[in-house]
Amino acid sequence: MKYRRIIVWFRNDLRIHDNVTLSMACEKAEEVIPVYCFDPRHFGEIDLGMEKMGNLRAKFLKESVSELRQNLQKLGADLVVLHGFPEKEIPNLAVSLQAEAIFFSEEVTDEEKQVDDALESTAWKKGIKTRSFWQHTLFHIEDLPFPIGQTPEVFTQFRKECEKFCKVRLHASTPNSINFPKIEIEKGQIPALSEFGLKEPEDTGRGVLMFKGGEQEGLRRLQTYFWNLDCLKDYKNTRNGLLGANYSSKFSPWLALGCLSPRQIYWEVKRYEKERVKNDSTYWLVFELIWRDYFRFIAKKHGNKIFQLKGIKPFADRWRRDESLFWKWANGHTGIPFVDANMRELNSTGFMSNRGRQNVASFLVNDLGIDWRWGAAYFESKLIDYDVCSNWCNWMYVAGVGNDPRENRYFNILKQGSNHDKKGDYVRHWIPELGKVPGFDIHRPFELNTSELKRYGVSLGGNYPHPIVSMKVFT
Ligand SMILES: Cc1cc2nc3c(=O)[nH]c(=O)nc-3n(C[C@H](O)[C@H](O)[C@H](O)COP(=O)(O)OP(=O)(O)OC[C@H]3O[C@@H](n4cnc5c(N)ncnc54)[C@H](O)[C@@H]3O)c2cc1C
Repeated sequence: MKYRRIIVWFRNDLRIHDNVTLSMACEKAEEVIPVYCFDPRHFGEIDLGMEKMGNLRAKFLKESVSELRQNLQKLGADLVVLHGFPEKEIPNLAVSLQAEAIFFSEEVTDEEKQVDDALESTAWKKGIKTRSFWQHTLFHIEDLPFPIGQTPEVFTQFRKECEKFCKVRLHASTPNSINFPKIEIEKGQIPALSEFGLKEPEDTGRGVLMFKGGEQEGLRRLQTYFWNLDCLKDYKNTRNGLLGANYSSKFSPWLALGCLSPRQIYWEVKRYEKERVKNDSTYWLVFELIWRDYFRFIAKKHGNKIFQLKGIKPFADRWRRDESLFWKWANGHTGIPFVDANMRELNSTGFMSNRGRQNVASFLVNDLGIDWRWGAAYFESKLIDYDVCSNWCNWMYVAGVGNDPRENRYFNILKQGSNHDKKGDYVRHWIPELGKVPGFDIHRPFELNTSELKRYGVSLGGNYPHPIVSMKVFT
């Protein structure tokens, strides 16, 4: 059956390439109306005075929506931008534009599912059909070798079964053109950050990359990292780095908003393996994408447990809720340089390396004993690559209430600093007030004597804080 008009509701799939929802709509309808809806529930203050979506994240989103609009215009269409609750605004738009169906990508977590359900029910009452499509993962949900309820709890088992029994599907075709109705349609403006009560972020120029939202930017990064700079062949050895654009792919912000498709990355890896080299590193990038899939399927399996204190474990409440300590952690004022450097990077750029995330998360939950959900909510606000499943499930994992088969995943911060920032360059980059402390000593200013501190221009409790916990001495 061919529809006359379909609305495609874009969510975290802000791309034209490999977009099943869009390509199915183009196939099934004479005319397609792409829509994005800025939902006020994604903004504003949450617990502890945090923003649900901070300004760096919101800026990246705005850029991605804006680029989607430009890409749709190149195909002869446009993007209708709405503000409000999608479950209300989109069916209303469908009625006013006489669209017969709404197509959208499926999400797995509660807030998003509630919106889907409400939208489906309102649309149904108005006689409008709805259809959702599975999009976010490398492996399609229908191709998994187990039902979602039996998703293996341990990553290795999940990975091995998927690798053995699933094939990554080919990408969906990119439409050559889109038939947009030739009627008067109010296109709507992309809002300014100030409309969400957010300030324009300042660019310090210190970030690992100038992250800019949008499909072309994501595809450009893929081209640069794989083909122009040939970094993929060394990925496994460099991926635990901290400084610079190319120790890891930095695909995550574009993946999170769907500006890049994981399948697009996968098939580019396969092409690279044919045309350049196939080695442990090329495999490892796909391995990491499987982690991403795993957390999405685990989130679907466990529902709201991933947001609850005990996670998927039967543990009792053993957490502290000390706001003053929490804000010292969040603001990068713990007096532990490796933690502070990472938090300062997050606060000023919206990005942090995987190694950094593991360390600061472990510090919050293990050294400070603070409720892990506060940390997850803080990351939700700040990370430009915030992905509900990857974020909350990684936090559960570090907090010991998730799927890690090992008990107590403690990261010794000084040892980690020594392994990954031996000369202290990373800390020096983010904490200039410690800049004169030489070598690895920059990781432990609290062990320097008075004359050393004076020589390096450091005043503990003055220009740099005393440590809020005593660190295990590391030699
Ligand atoms: C506490 C904590 C919170 C995190 N929150 C997020 C989040 O909100 N969004 C997010 O995308 N990642 C999150 N991660 C995972 C990981 O840190 C980032 O995906 C990675 O650092 C992004 O950098 P990259 O793209 O250069 O990664 P690369 O090393 O180049 O990896 C390639 C891709 O694999 C995926 N990937 C890699 N590691 C993981 C992982 N541990 N879990 C899930 N996917 C992974 C990402 O999509 C990444 O872009 C979190 C990790 C921790 C420990």
